[in-house]
Amino acid sequence: MNTRVSFIGLGIMGSPMAGHLLAAGYPLTVYNRTAKKTESLAEQGAKVAETPAEAVRDADVVISMVSDTSDVEQVLLGDQGVITTIQPGALVIDMSTIDPAASQTIYQQFQARQVDFLDAPVSGGDVGAINATLTIMVGGDDAAFQRALPVFDCLGKSTTHIGASGAGQICKACNQILVASNVMGVCEALGLAAANDIELKPLVEALGGGAAQSWQLDNLGPAIIDNQLDPGFMIELLAKDLRIVKEALEKAGTVADSSNRAKQLFDDLAAQGDGRLGTQALVKAYEQLGNVKIRR
Ligand code: NAP
Repeated sequence: MNTRVSFIGLGIMGSPMAGHLLAAGYPLTVYNRTAKKTESLAEQGAKVAETPAEAVRDADVVISMVSDTSDVEQVLLGDQGVITTIQPGALVIDMSTIDPAASQTIYQQFQARQVDFLDAPVSGGDVGAINATLTIMVGGDDAAFQRALPVFDCLGKSTTHIGASGAGQICKACNQILVASNVMGVCEALGLAAANDIELKPLVEALGGGAAQSWQLDNLGPAIIDNQLDPGFMIELLAKDLRIVKEALEKAGTVADSSNRAKQLFDDLAAQGDGRLGTQALVKAYEQLGNVKIRR
């Protein structure tokens, strides 16, 4: 394969994603701030760079997968960032979850250098990254989207071009509103059932067969009942995403009921030291506030 890909950010998500691109035959260069995390990909044949700038000097396609808005700005636009060495004609794809407005600004900066830019945040968690079954929500120009499709096909099972630059991040914010309000609903419902001494496992099965069925109920309901609070998706990342949601809702001037309440609850859990538990640990707040025992 001739398309040279550079991957920046080898965390829980980035590491398996970069591995899929290498396995698909793309010549791959990687950069990670903590160098140790590059070792396994280097053993599989990836080139390792010392800075984002060095990583992308000859790249056709660059993918960033780092934590928050300021981190993306640093690796893409900073002193040793992608923008300092990227060649005109290249394509940069940011797959992190960040502020949609910041994403649009980054798009403009790359456009000014004749470099294409897509925002392409994902849903599906670490399992989706490992199994290459991510849902990918893309904002940007159609020609850039078409060009990126073969790369997306290595990473996900469902890729949608949502609209212009920033639309992928808006879609991800919508996704997080639904995720957060859904897990709140699961905890609220389980609290009511537990307070009425109802056996919770059959209750979850019954609810899962009807109109209340959801991924959160099917997967997090049983985990909550069994007191399994290890992350799939960490509270501190959802709290970060709900900050982005809040800013986007304020900018749009639309209603922010459930996501405001969710932000408050998840921020409180993070502040009390539970930020690295899974989002199902929201049950702790519902048990405390409702004076009810939900977990076995
Ligand atoms: P993670 O495991 O914490 O990895 C974050 C990565 O970003 C690491 O490689 C880290 O480098 C790098 N990084 C952070 N700040 C940096 C900076 N200022 N300069 C250079 N590198 C920096 O996080 P993750 O779970 O992979 O998440 C990555 C993105 O995907 C986030 O935006 C997250 O919201 C989104 N996401 C995550 C999930 C999930 O289930 N985990 C699901 C969907 C979307 P170091 O190794 O040096 O720390």
